[in-house]
Amino acid sequence: MSSSDKPATIAAHAAGAIDLQSGGVVPSLQPSTTFLRDADYDLLRDDNTYARDNSDNVRQAERVLQALEAAAETLLFPSGMAAIAAVFRTLSNDAQVIIQSGIYWGTTAWVRDFCKRRGIGLHEVDADDLPQACAAIKADLVFIETPSNPWLKTVDIAGIRAITDGLLVVDGTAATPVLTQAIGHGADIAMHSATKAINGHSDVLAGVLSTSNPDTAAWQAICADRKMAGAVLGPFEAWLLTRAMRTLPLRVERMSENAMALATVLYAHPRIEDVYYPGLPHHPGHAVAQRQMTGGFGSLLSVLVAGGREEALSVIGKFNLFLRATSLGGVESLVEHRHTIEPDTGIPENLIRVSVGIEHIDDLLADWMQALDG
Ligand SMILES: *Cc1c(COP(=O)(O)O)cnc(C)c1O
Repeated sequence: MSSSDKPATIAAHAAGAIDLQSGGVVPSLQPSTTFLRDADYDLLRDDNTYARDNSDNVRQAERVLQALEAAAETLLFPSGMAAIAAVFRTLSNDAQVIIQSGIYWGTTAWVRDFCKRRGIGLHEVDADDLPQACAAIKADLVFIETPSNPWLKTVDIAGIRAITDGLLVVDGTAATPVLTQAIGHGADIAMHSATKAINGHSDVLAGVLSTSNPDTAAWQAICADRKMAGAVLGPFEAWLLTRAMRTLPLRVERMSENAMALATVLYAHPRIEDVYYPGLPHHPGHAVAQRQMTGGFGSLLSVLVAGGREEALSVIGKFNLFLRATSLGGVESLVEHRHTIEPDTGIPENLIRVSVGIEHIDDLLADWMQALDG
């Protein structure tokens, strides 16, 4: 491995993870929770003491993500929410927080509750109004999500960086580190739910934080929080994640191609009112997405069916290939009626959220056509 390797190369080689002991070209799974000391009471390996502190399988997965993100340090967590919680727990009780509104509902709900209990000043701001809010409020933490889920709003990370001194945290789950390296655009911390496209096989729950600046008080507090409060990814999950990430750039490329083709066809369909996808030229965030995303616009889109709730649910009921399930970023395509899940947050009742997988595009298009026309 060399430091100039491209993402596809880093991923295929899992950033050099092999098993020196057996000569295996893939790493072994090491489930031990505790690690030996010799007769002089020295650790056999200085970096392995107890599995809550760290372990080889977690480090192997972190190294891949660190290289893909071009970060200085990366930490894995047992879910995306655990990663977000670790960030927010670094705040003092008199802190001021700006958080983008209309993002992943789990984040909004948890952050509201947390800030209320801790007396933290919380400002929920629409993506379009973030520059104004960041200029007006001296925030300790600014949390953005781009592209956002399920509205697909895009935020200019560098633009926000230029107007806030607060800790800038970017949830780039829908973009993945393959399409957007948030740190390179000025984020202090790049966050992802690795449950989604990073793992991509709908069989591991994980979250990740990366930074270019490990010496900051915030990052040190996050490291201490993971180790001491114990939100640690298990070795098997880390091993599966390392395995899955070997194909991450390949999967993201195909998913983005499929999503772009599907979005284009659906936008032209008479039964479709609108399609939210940053790759479409009419999308309000298209110019920002073109600057900020490289190699595609991701696998997530939202489709507004002409009519209302009944029309959308009737289309959803007709899919044969698209699976009716929540989540996104897996190799299999999914659809979700978001309004059923979060009825009180302004999601249109005719909105179908779509996660596009790696199936053949002809089959994906055919399933939508029969669902719309049938
Ligand atoms: C799923 C998701 C999360 C939460 O991640 P979990 O792994 O489910 O805890 C956070 N942000 C976004 C954008 C997500 O899609």
